[in-house]
Amino acid sequence: MAEKQYKILLSEDEIPRHWYNIQADMPNKPLPPLHPGTKQPVGPADLAPLFPMELIKQEVSQERYIEIPEEVREIYKLWRPTPMFRAHRLEKMLDTPAKIYYKYEGVSPSGSHKTNTAVAQAYYNKMEGVKRITTETGAGQWGTALAIACQMFDIECEVFQVRISYNQKPYRKALIESFGAKIYPSPSELTESGRKILAQYPDTPGSLGIAISEAIECAVQDENCKYALGSVLNHVLMHQTIIGQECLVQMEKAGDFPDIVIAPLGGGSNFAGISFPFLHQNLTQGKKVRAIAVEPASCPKLTKGEFRYDFGDSAGFTPLLPMYTLGHNFRPAAIHAGGLRYHGASVLCSQLLKDGLIEANAIQQLECFEAGIAFAKAEGIIPAPEATHGIAQVFREAQRCKEEGKSETILLNLCGHGFLDMQAYMDYFDGKLSDHFLTDEELKSGLKELADYPSI
Ligand SMILES: *Cc1c(COP(=O)(O)O)cnc(C)c1O
Repeated sequence: MAEKQYKILLSEDEIPRHWYNIQADMPNKPLPPLHPGTKQPVGPADLAPLFPMELIKQEVSQERYIEIPEEVREIYKLWRPTPMFRAHRLEKMLDTPAKIYYKYEGVSPSGSHKTNTAVAQAYYNKMEGVKRITTETGAGQWGTALAIACQMFDIECEVFQVRISYNQKPYRKALIESFGAKIYPSPSELTESGRKILAQYPDTPGSLGIAISEAIECAVQDENCKYALGSVLNHVLMHQTIIGQECLVQMEKAGDFPDIVIAPLGGGSNFAGISFPFLHQNLTQGKKVRAIAVEPASCPKLTKGEFRYDFGDSAGFTPLLPMYTLGHNFRPAAIHAGGLRYHGASVLCSQLLKDGLIEANAIQQLECFEAGIAFAKAEGIIPAPEATHGIAQVFREAQRCKEEGKSETILLNLCGHGFLDMQAYMDYFDGKLSDHFLTDEELKSGLKELADYPSI
């Protein structure tokens, strides 16, 4: 019998040379972002105060492949290609005929996939002379990733971290400061939008939507400063496709091909990163890979939200985006998967879901932690609380395969490790975590305020 292979590895020269842009292959192109005042499509000039022109071009590009700059690819070599594992031990534990693989993005310097786009965004900002970048962060992975990337390109970096995560995960602050960035809990007294929320809700846990407003407000006040977003936007999702492109080659080396690709979804970037290169095969080569995005049941925009125009942030500074949303003022419960506490889903993922080209599922927090701990016992990696949502879905599919006697191939994006999230595990072990059942009223609360904005 051939020896079992656990890690499927690539060499540095197998790092992809292009990002994959799914816009080229989508049957229905995404609807344009609208200016909230005029309700007309925004042009490049509207976005120029926030982003470097090269990223704005990528945002609307219809080119199938965009070359990765050599300088970015060199930095990718610090942690890429990332390993893909065959989870033999997990398969045995679950007693399933399914074959389970996972792509591990936790080996990056920030501990998650976020570094893939952070380095690219910092590079394009540097090329256009930007001196300072502001951003938001939830659990802290994005803030860490951008701090590292800015450090590499000698750009100042300021991070607004959602307050509940700032308090839950104190080591993120130390990490972000180690890389030379400044970090503030959000909402803060530093911005108009922060002060407004604090006056209204002094005890607010904060949200990604609020933190985005604060970061944008700072960026537009300084002409040498731009803003960077860690998810949601088309160019961010595209930068992450390096993950799935590596998986395509790794699957070939393993002599396998996935029936199902699974990833957690906060804004959509790690899900897009692993699934879009496989959807390319569906859209152009007749493959039938199921791509499943998994969200928390307490923040269920894909499964319970509306497909409509909404703001990307709480204060309403961003253009109106056509997306599945719970409303920009939806206040997500204080769950530990901070990266999934976002009211909307990216425009690309939303359009694909609307067109039936991807699937979505919502899972409660306790099932996710239980699955995450079982995964850690089998595979030796503590997953980020966000990643446990994908793991819980893998368990469900593995169980279904067992019941149906099918040996399907499942590929998971293990998008980050949980070493800086151990408080979440402590709370779980202490029985302090609970599931969260939204009432119809809570679900609709954020959407009511959207009546004045164009529906689709
Ligand atoms: C940021 C983050 C997420 C959620 O964001 P996406 O853009 O949906 O990927 C999920 N998992 C981890 C580990 C993250 O850092």
